[in-house]
Amino acid sequence: MIHDQATYARESEDVREPLLSEKGSSTVDVSAESPLPDDLTREEVTLPSPSEPEIARHYTRLSQMNWSIDSGSYPLGSCTMKYNPAFTEDVAADPNAAVHPDRPDESVQGNLELMHRLQEFLAEIGGMDAVTLQPPAGAAGELTGILIAKAYHEHHGNDRSEVVIPASAHGTNFATAATAGYDVVELPSGEDGRVDLEALTAAVGEDTAALMLTNPNTVGLFERDIAEIADIVHDAGGLLYYDGANLNALLGRGRPGDMGFDVMHYNVHKTFATPHGGGGPGAGPVGVTDRLAEFLPSPRVREAETGRGYERFEPAESIGKVHGFQGNWLVLIKAYAYIARLGDDGLADAAAKAVLNANYLAERIELDVPHGPFHHEFAATAGDRDAADVAKRMLDFGVHPPTTKWPEMVPEAMLTEPTEIENKSSLDDLASAFNLAYSDVEEALENAPNRTAASRIDQVGAARNPRLSWQALDEE
Ligand SMILES: *Cc1c(COP(=O)(O)O)cnc(C)c1O
Repeated sequence: MIHDQATYARESEDVREPLLSEKGSSTVDVSAESPLPDDLTREEVTLPSPSEPEIARHYTRLSQMNWSIDSGSYPLGSCTMKYNPAFTEDVAADPNAAVHPDRPDESVQGNLELMHRLQEFLAEIGGMDAVTLQPPAGAAGELTGILIAKAYHEHHGNDRSEVVIPASAHGTNFATAATAGYDVVELPSGEDGRVDLEALTAAVGEDTAALMLTNPNTVGLFERDIAEIADIVHDAGGLLYYDGANLNALLGRGRPGDMGFDVMHYNVHKTFATPHGGGGPGAGPVGVTDRLAEFLPSPRVREAETGRGYERFEPAESIGKVHGFQGNWLVLIKAYAYIARLGDDGLADAAAKAVLNANYLAERIELDVPHGPFHHEFAATAGDRDAADVAKRMLDFGVHPPTTKWPEMVPEAMLTEPTEIENKSSLDDLASAFNLAYSDVEEALENAPNRTAASRIDQVGAARNPRLSWQALDEE
């Protein structure tokens, strides 16, 4: 059905045409008194006036031109694209949630209690002592965490200039360290795809502020030597930062705090099933161990010193604010609802199924999958085929392709993360799409996709020069 819609959309010259020009429009008098300057106001405005069915069809058609987790599997490695249960939307839509963030603490006790509980949930899940909910995304959480590490070192009179990061790390780790004013020391991966202890020992020293690491790493491999890694970094006086984007693999089974990490972020839009990317804003809470708690952003929420209820407060050596108020509050409510609904057993079960699904899929595909066994994701290699071509061809077989050409430690990588939500038949469909695309003739790969609304688009151009105007092309 999706393909029929897409073909139809492609045949019509401009999919917005029926809404914006062909159908009637009406002119509305808007010339009321306005406090705005004259050059910013209009006397009248012309609005399209389509019927309700036309609008419903227009937006339904547009929605079917793109891929979504609601229309099929979405195994985009490192992104943890899992389904967001609809009940969390109901919880976040409670009118009592949408109150002004400047209201006094006494009048928003329920909301503060929820924030406090979420701080505690996340601390427990990560093995941390204190949590801030403020950062609005994973990358913002990273920057917050590294600024906390910096404040900690400065507070203790240590001027440290370097952050060590494995070459396979997510691009945001390098950007974070540089933005926080550090020199990046890149750590090559060992032959088994993990941190090489000798290389690490050589890389850390008295200039090391922190090591940034995710575990399992970006190809789904667990860093078995994590206790030694933590000792090496701590012995040099550095801190251990945990990139929590891969926490879905560990939920209820392992905790960064127990592994020796001092500071971490949580991607609630990955691990705790709140909307992702274009689906809405995210949140990137940060957890720390006791010795870093006084540096957390302000405000945090605690049990009130009077012994009754909850209050906001500013930690003694706070790095300040990294976002307005408490962060993306409605997103945080969804994370809270998801965690509360699943409970300890449900979270541990999600992690187990995420790992099982990745390993099952890795077995079912004909592509070579180096390293392993994996946790929640794996990087297959397209070998002498172009990973991006194989991915585009997979679109023609009705699935979303994996992340391609990253991380670079696996040549022509196809980084695949099915998540716990897919069942066996869905994983089998995914494996078939992989295998059909991988073994297809070169010409089919080069021309793919040809059953989607748009064929090869300029992905870089779309990101660098986005068209964000509501206006039709010829009006711009
Ligand atoms: C997604 C991701 C990030 C960044 O998180 P955002 O919420 O997208 O800013 C950092 N590290 C890894 C490994 C990731 O997958």
